[in-house]
Amino acid sequence: MPDRIYLDYAATTPLDPRVEEAMRPYLGEQFGNPSSIHSYGREAKAALDSARDRTAAILGCSSSEIVFTSGGTEADNLALLGVARANRDRGRHIVISAFEHHAIMEAALLLEEWGFELSRIPVTAEGMVEPAALAAAMRDDTILVSIMLVNNEVGTIQPVAELARIAHERGAHFHTDAVQAAGAVPLNVQDLGVDLLSLSAHKFYGPKGVGALYARQGVRLAPIMRGGEQERELRPGTENVPGIAGFAAALELATEVMEAETARLTPLQDRLMSRVLDSIPRSRLNGARAPRIASNANFAFEDVSGETLLAKLDLLGIAASSGSACAAGSLEPSHVLRAMGLSKPLAQSALRLTLGRSTTEAQIERVLEILPRVIARVRG
Ligand code: PMP
Repeated sequence: MPDRIYLDYAATTPLDPRVEEAMRPYLGEQFGNPSSIHSYGREAKAALDSARDRTAAILGCSSSEIVFTSGGTEADNLALLGVARANRDRGRHIVISAFEHHAIMEAALLLEEWGFELSRIPVTAEGMVEPAALAAAMRDDTILVSIMLVNNEVGTIQPVAELARIAHERGAHFHTDAVQAAGAVPLNVQDLGVDLLSLSAHKFYGPKGVGALYARQGVRLAPIMRGGEQERELRPGTENVPGIAGFAAALELATEVMEAETARLTPLQDRLMSRVLDSIPRSRLNGARAPRIASNANFAFEDVSGETLLAKLDLLGIAASSGSACAAGSLEPSHVLRAMGLSKPLAQSALRLTLGRSTTEAQIERVLEILPRVIARVRG
């Protein structure tokens, strides 16, 4: 088998060796518990403080507004459940979009069980949330709106600054799941105008199992777990010091290379999109061509089983996906593509190719050579 080609960077990314280096001291000699008052503890606390400061510098917020979590899922849950519980005296209505990640959708369903009312606003066929749709859904008792910055399946960039303004006009807080945006679009929370923002390190060449929630000072938030007083009593539990050191190092690197990577990937993405659409009959691009991050190309192919296609590509050494890794193995078609109006069979034919730092022109050429043949065979 020729060298494998990884085109599933939206599912996860490999750890950058420089990030691993930044984590190493805290896996070894500097193993202290940051809550301990002795020198071991103080070393760990210093690492935590430094990571928090550097994260805050990139987000354009103050260090006290960062809560480290076990990943994007926990950050999303803390945002939704935490804001809802702490603000239930102000209202019971929550708004999300129809194509949020499962971490948001399922947390929102739990809020419904808790007696909150949920509105899911539609997305366009192009994979965009329209400000007018949000404005129409807002009520006097809306306390929170959560709309993702970049969709994880189709890569479209949402007009978050405008959406946040609409939420604020009606007195609601605005959260954005920026898990797929890190390293692809600027994350300054002042420019975005958001009150809460979720991140996950393993999507930007950091370790798995560590993330962060930015929560603007003054936003009332209740913890979802009970325990110690870590993370300003918002997230009990001994902090994942090596993970958090890795999170900050990875975020810095991702920010540093963002522009250059975008410039490098854009022509590769262009070539991939135009050649697939030209060379494969009855193919279509899922999601608007723009505004879209440079690393995502998502296609649908009439009369193709996406599952069979992925298995055949895997045998040929190409690792891709049909959409969210969290939903892989589920036979249900993607709720994202369904929300964009794709029929069930078309949604089940989706192929998501996501590019990253190790993606080369030669790899894209190889995929372009293989894909039309594989599709023709799958169509039989
Ligand atoms: N939100 C989005 C948009 C994601 O893509 C993911 C990861 N698939 C998550 C949340 C969950 O992040 P984590 O894997 O760190 O829990």
